[in-house]
Amino acid sequence: MVLLKRGQIRLYNTLTRKKEFFKPIEDKIVKIYACGPTVYDYAHIGNMRAYVFEDLLRRVLEFNGYKVIHVMNITDVGHLTSDADTGEDKIEMSARKRGKSAWEIAEYFTKMFFRDTDRLNILRPHITPRATQHIDDMIKFVKTIMEKGYAYIIDDGVYFDTSKLKNYGQLTGKNFEELQKTLKAGARVEFNPQKRNITDFALWKFSPKNVKRQMEWDSPWGRGFPGWHIECSVMSMKYLGEQFDIHCGGVDHIPIHHTNEIAQSIAATGKIPARFWLHCAHLIVEGKKMSKSLGNYYTLQDLLDRGYDWRTIRFFLLSGHYRKQLNLTFKALDSARSAVKSLVDFIQRLSEVNADIYDEKISKMADKMVEEFVGYINDDLDMPKALASLFKYIRYFNKALNENRIGKRNAEEILNNLLELDRILGLKLNEFIEIKIPVEILKLVEIREEARKRKDYETADKIREEIRRRGYIIEDTPSGPRIKKAYTA
Ligand code: AMP
Ligand code: ZN
Repeated sequence: MVLLKRGQIRLYNTLTRKKEFFKPIEDKIVKIYACGPTVYDYAHIGNMRAYVFEDLLRRVLEFNGYKVIHVMNITDVGHLTSDADTGEDKIEMSARKRGKSAWEIAEYFTKMFFRDTDRLNILRPHITPRATQHIDDMIKFVKTIMEKGYAYIIDDGVYFDTSKLKNYGQLTGKNFEELQKTLKAGARVEFNPQKRNITDFALWKFSPKNVKRQMEWDSPWGRGFPGWHIECSVMSMKYLGEQFDIHCGGVDHIPIHHTNEIAQSIAATGKIPARFWLHCAHLIVEGKKMSKSLGNYYTLQDLLDRGYDWRTIRFFLLSGHYRKQLNLTFKALDSARSAVKSLVDFIQRLSEVNADIYDEKISKMADKMVEEFVGYINDDLDMPKALASLFKYIRYFNKALNENRIGKRNAEEILNNLLELDRILGLKLNEFIEIKIPVEILKLVEIREEARKRKDYETADKIREEIRRRGYIIEDTPSGPRIKKAYTA
């Protein structure tokens, strides 16, 4: 198999159902729109899989020399409990249950969302527009769709007539009739009988009669709020233009949300908004869908509370191929923890090498390690293969270290290459090399040395324990104590 080189990327495009070589519309700039969170509750670890996947995509593009403009919306209104445009608004429902205002709920859970993505070292999107701040733009967009003859009004809102579009549903690979059938078969809720087609969806919903919503606005058609899909069409166009490079989200977005975004944009502009559509498969738990009722619902905080650190969790989320379901088990988390630990042990070992020898072959292998990793990751983000290859090299180098075949210059080459790959992995491996030991730790080391000199080993051991508790390890060497950052998770 020929490995892809830096600058050559292939991605699976849901729209064409094949892997395609990626080329951005504008040279060297990649514009990505990712569907963001509905901020009514803490994001669960399944949602985090989607954001880690998008982070990986962005990092791989940046690694390959592109400048990425990453936009992710915050859904703070209009996402109803049922994707069939019925049920309660998730934000208003959460507000009612928690005794807060809808605005407070959206504000708080947006903050919590970014707390969690920051903790997983997910790069913040450059622009994070909120639906509630784009209501005027959405009203204008709905007007355009109406003027072009794609919409109709019924008693609970303005709807898009999906039968008016030649290729409605092309993202799903199903034709119009098949889509009607699937939706009918899977329907768990009553559809408004005034809808012309079961696939028709709301562009603007009227506030329910006799209900005072907290979030509602006047529109030419009546007081209400935007349908869920309109925000993404409007905000992606506003920040990235009528057509941009990549649109992504979880697979659940294929049949409804993204299908309807495409329909809206074609109606308004005649264009499919993005050239590539990328979707990550779901995270499942012990083989089952994650749900509160099954008691297998975890947030990032839940996993941190169980003693897994962010690196382990990030590594676990990265480790499966994004187009395959990923099964969350404690065993899988434990293996992710050992994998990170072996990475950290390896780089710490390398950073301690001092020997004055140099081997061309080791140097070549260090470069091959990067080439192979890049070759796999550039091929539709094949992380399982990229990681298998990385650990193959680590085993090889560890063996060479055991045999004292690696000198300082070789060790530095390997380390630099690993840090280069960490631009993709995002595990902040440099923190284990370029360590700045805090003064209070240095003070403790000094006190421990004094205790050792007095032969007070009990105190010395206690201090060592305290130092370890604070995240550092002391190794006593003939030339004095050496301090390393511990990987304690
Ligand atoms: P939501 O906040 O429900 O709109 O979802 C936010 C993102 O998480 C979307 O891209 C979803 O497709 C994605 N998502 C939801 N559940 C899962 C899951 N179990 N595994 C992976 N992604 C998910
Ligand atoms: Zn969206």
